[in-house]
Amino acid sequence: MKLHEYQSKRIFAQYGVPIPQGDVATTPEQARQIAARLGKRVVIKAQVLVGGRGKAGGIRLADHPDEAERVADQILGMNIKGLTVKKVLVDEAADIATEIYLGIVIDRTTHHPVMMASAQGGVEIEEVARVTPERIVKITIDPFLGLQAYQGRELAFGIGLPKELVRDFVLIAEGLYKAFVGCDASLAEINPLVVTGGSKLLAVDGKILLDDNALFRHFELAEMRDADEETPEEQEARRHGLSYVKLDGEIGCMVNGAGLAMATMDITKLYGGAPANFLDIGGGAQADKVAAALRIILSDPHVKAVLFNIFGGITRCDEVAKGILEALREVPTCVPMVARLVGTNEEQGRQILAEARMATAATLAEAAQKAVAAAHGAHGFARGEL
Ligand code: GDP
Ligand code: MN
Repeated sequence: MKLHEYQSKRIFAQYGVPIPQGDVATTPEQARQIAARLGKRVVIKAQVLVGGRGKAGGIRLADHPDEAERVADQILGMNIKGLTVKKVLVDEAADIATEIYLGIVIDRTTHHPVMMASAQGGVEIEEVARVTPERIVKITIDPFLGLQAYQGRELAFGIGLPKELVRDFVLIAEGLYKAFVGCDASLAEINPLVVTGGSKLLAVDGKILLDDNALFRHFELAEMRDADEETPEEQEARRHGLSYVKLDGEIGCMVNGAGLAMATMDITKLYGGAPANFLDIGGGAQADKVAAALRIILSDPHVKAVLFNIFGGITRCDEVAKGILEALREVPTCVPMVARLVGTNEEQGRQILAEARMATAATLAEAAQKAVAAAHGAHGFARGEL
C-alpha cells in the first residue's frame, strides 16, 4: 500500500525528520487559508500516488494567498498519469540549494535493508541509477543492530555532504530507518532531501510503501488507504482475496500460486507474448473466486487471449473448471482461451471444460504457445475451433 507524500512526511516528522510546515487542502479556498496562515511563499503539490508530479505540472509555487488559491484551483481536478488530483499539499516553499536522495528498501539478495544516498537527488534519480550508478552510495543494515551512526556518516561522506551538515544528516538517516521499521514499510524515501540556502536539511518530498502483510498490526496506517490507489479491478481482486497486478500485455493469465504465476508470465514472454496481468487465485480456490478472477481479467480491453495454468493440489481442477464456466455464463466473451489443468481431478476438470469448447494443453509450453498464437490472431483460433 502506498502512502501520500503528506502522510509519509508526517510519519517522518514523528521520527525527528525536519519537514516544511504545511497542510492539506481539498478546495482552492482552503489552500488560500493555509497559505495565509503560513504567511510566506508556498508550494502547492498535487497529492496523487504516482511519481513525477513535478514534471507533470502538479507542483507549483505561489507567492501570496490569492495566487495559492488560483494555483490550487488549477491543480485540483488535474489528471496526472490517469489519476485525478483531489487533494493538494500547501507547504511553505523551500529555498533549495541542492537536492539529495535518501531512501531505504529491502535488498532481496542480501535479505537486509539497504540505505541509499546520492548527491544527485531530485526528479532524475532513476536516470542517475541507470547511467551513473556509482553516484548512489549504499550501505547494508543489520536488522538486529539497526542503522549505526558510523553508517550514516559513511553515507554523508560518500555523497560529499558539507561537514557541518553531517550530524543532522545522520539523525535524519536514523529517523528514516526507524520510520521504515516502525511502519513495516518496504520502502521509505526522501527525494529530495534538500540543503536550503540557509544550510539546513529539509525533507521536501516523502514516499512510503507499506508491506500489506503487516497492515493487520497498523490500524492507523491501514486507515490511510486511498481508494484511488487501486483500480476498480484491483479493489475487486482484494475483496476476493486474489493477488492481482495489472500489466500492459495482451494475454490474461489465471494461475494458482505466485511462483507458478511468475513462471507462466516468463514462459508467455519466451514465446513472444506479453502478460496482461499477474493473477494468483491462491490455493483451494472455489468456483466463485475463479469466476471473479475471470471477470477481472476480461474487464481489461487489451486482453486478446486468456491462459489458465492450474496445478491441482489443494485446488481441485473441477472446481476451477466450474468457476470458468460460471464466469463465462455471466460474461459471455469471444476472447480465445487456453487451459492447462494438471493434478487433482484434472479429468473431471477437462470434461467440464469440453463443454466450453476451450483449447486445452498438456504442458505449460504448449499452453503458452497456443495462448500467444491466439492473442496474435492465429487463424482458426476463435474459441470453439480448437
Ligand atoms: P515529485 O516530482 O513527485 O518527485 O515531487 P517533489 O516533491 O520531489 O518535487 C519535484 C521537484 O520540485 C523537486 O525536486 C524540487 O526541485 C521542486 N520543488 C518541490 N518543492 C519545492 C519547493 O518548496 N521549492 C522549490 N523551489 N522547489 C520545489
Ligand atoms: Mn520527489
